[in-house]
Amino acid sequence: MSDLLIRNARLVDGRVVSIDIRDGRYARIADASDVRTPEQEAADVLDADGRLVTESFVNGHMHLEKVYTLPMVGDEALGAYTAGSMGGAMTSIELASAVKRQYDRSWIEPNVRRALDEAVRYGTLHVLAFVDVDTTAGLVGMESVLAVREEYRGRVDLQVVAFPQDGLIRDEGAAELCEEALRMGADVVGGIPWIEHTDTDAYAHVEWACSLASAQGRRVAMLVDDSGDPSLRTTGMLAEAMLRHDLLGRGVACHARALGTYPEPSLLRLIGLARRAGLGFVSDPHTGPLHLPVRRFIDEGLPVALGQDDIEDAYYPFGRHNMLEVAFLAAHLLGFLSAVEQRHLLELVTTRAADVLGLPGHRIHEGNPANLCIHDQERVVDVLREHAAPQWVVRDGHVIAGG
Ligand SMILES: [Zn+2]
Repeated sequence: MSDLLIRNARLVDGRVVSIDIRDGRYARIADASDVRTPEQEAADVLDADGRLVTESFVNGHMHLEKVYTLPMVGDEALGAYTAGSMGGAMTSIELASAVKRQYDRSWIEPNVRRALDEAVRYGTLHVLAFVDVDTTAGLVGMESVLAVREEYRGRVDLQVVAFPQDGLIRDEGAAELCEEALRMGADVVGGIPWIEHTDTDAYAHVEWACSLASAQGRRVAMLVDDSGDPSLRTTGMLAEAMLRHDLLGRGVACHARALGTYPEPSLLRLIGLARRAGLGFVSDPHTGPLHLPVRRFIDEGLPVALGQDDIEDAYYPFGRHNMLEVAFLAAHLLGFLSAVEQRHLLELVTTRAADVLGLPGHRIHEGNPANLCIHDQERVVDVLREHAAPQWVVRDGHVIAGG
């Protein structure tokens, strides 16, 4: 007997199917006319009535412990980050850092819960969550997120990144705190090499993270080259270090906005290197005036995702943890408007994003975990246009939102 049968589900390729879920996985996906009377077989039945069913959403990059802190920091950092060609990005990070002196689990944890409740509502069930760990924040943000992660286990999966937001060489003591965060339960080694004052320091920063990840069998995720300076080269440093430390396919480069300003020969060189290293990329074009050349990276076959990045923090005032909203914004900022590009947008927040995060089997295929959204619209264009909460959100074969 099925745990859940979804009738009349329209897949992105246009087929209308019945989806039979057992033990949390897709047991059978068959043409809608091809199944026996479902009421006799399934514990629960949902009728999608021809509306679109997609994989659940994956948020490739999120600053999770900072959500809803904008009222505490004011607009100064926001202005510095987004002005001109992002020359003030480093100043912005320094201004935003002030909030960390007030870090306290009593207000961080409710904020994180609110952001994860939004994630469930919008079908965002996997998140690469960056948490600041440095000599200002200490381990308070990390303790908060790790505690809330347990509460949401089975609904939202967090890959928690120990993230030295203010640098490692600039912020002496941050490396030891990150190592402690990993012992406490963080999953991924973080980094932000571009913020260091010299290329030598940036290299040492990347080397620390990748050697640690390699020694402990972890993944790495970094913020790289996050300003409008075409001479920034920490993305390449990360890819090289992944090759050096046998981290093939286990690294993620976020932001990487400077790549949009690279001259063609530099970009080509980087693309070749990233391909060899299996480096994945996450872009969030709505949170800054520059962005990764996403279209080019898709054409080159590199793993790319979109990220929510921020929800009402010092860098971005909006955000609902709604990856369809992120995709809708990206449609305009990246010029992804054709039917093929609309499909790409969906993939950038579902299947391609899962590839970037190293999540196995995030596809509506038999045998894979049944994590999906049943939308209220039939066509991809309408799902993007309305970017509404799905009608139902299914996690491991169980309805966890909607209805
Ligand atoms: Zn970010």
